[in-house]
Amino acid sequence: MIREVAENIYTFPINLPHNPLKVLNSYVIKGGGDSKNLLIDVGFNCPRCRSDLKKGMEAFGLTPGNTDVFFTHGHADHTGNASWLKEQGYELLIGEVDHKHIFRATDSAHLDRMSREGVPTEVTDAMRYRSKKEWMVSDDFAATDLRDGEVLSYGGYKLRCVMTPGHSLGHMCLYDEDKQLMFTGDHVLFDITPNINVAPEGMDSLGNYMQSLEKVAHIPVKIALPGHRQIGGDFSGRVHELYQHHMDRLKEAENIVRAHPGISAYGTAQHMTWSIVAKSWDDFPVDQKWYAYGEALSHLVYLEKLGRVRRAFSGSGTAEYYVL
Ligand SMILES: [Zn+2]
Ligand SMILES: [Zn+2]
Repeated sequence: MIREVAENIYTFPINLPHNPLKVLNSYVIKGGGDSKNLLIDVGFNCPRCRSDLKKGMEAFGLTPGNTDVFFTHGHADHTGNASWLKEQGYELLIGEVDHKHIFRATDSAHLDRMSREGVPTEVTDAMRYRSKKEWMVSDDFAATDLRDGEVLSYGGYKLRCVMTPGHSLGHMCLYDEDKQLMFTGDHVLFDITPNINVAPEGMDSLGNYMQSLEKVAHIPVKIALPGHRQIGGDFSGRVHELYQHHMDRLKEAENIVRAHPGISAYGTAQHMTWSIVAKSWDDFPVDQKWYAYGEALSHLVYLEKLGRVRRAFSGSGTAEYYVL
């Protein structure tokens, strides 16, 4: 089902099987004159996503000669079909940071870190199995790297690349100042909260995310085009809501550590409140346990940076958290 969301800009859904996000919003900016079309975000490397993507592309008559492809960030639900598109001859565009770190989310360093952060073997093993990249890009792909502030011209729009790290290491929004229109990727979503997960050791994904929220809070946006679910809404109100949500979550995590001195990141996740429908922590699907752990850890890392908790290691090498 194709919808026009702004002048020359259309969206079509790519269904994400077995995924709580349900649907990716793929976008097409129609070119004209000398301008090519721009396709934005393309779904997992799986048959259902590929078929939805092909249907959408056929409806617009997209070909490698008349279309470029942009990825807001490196997550598999946005870039999964990148290698296939490259094989067809499409020119691909992505922020330079996520291009370099595209396979990092479930790489072995993260998996090794999970046991240090108290994650039980059955969850780590399940994630190790899942990291086979079956739904991700089939190989590293050649693409044009974009930097913060670069401007892309498609279909009468002048789109400035706005680096917004946090949800991924090098997430990028695209902003047209005249039209006050922004492709927000997964940086700002309206009816769900973007997941903030683990970053490589020593990096602070939530701290980055909060800074990126502050960065876009000052940008006037009338038309916000997010990567998932509801399209449009009160952009600046939503940015403030997301900021407040994490401030509240930081307090919650800090209180859990205060009540359980020496708790692990995984233990903290079990005490935090989650919106998923499950009777107890044991009933959480394994990937949701992994997301919850990542979210808890990102809050603890930021609390540590703010000087509100400290991390120590037990004799067995597990990270323990204490309030300061
Ligand atoms: Zn994402
Ligand atoms: Zn996404």
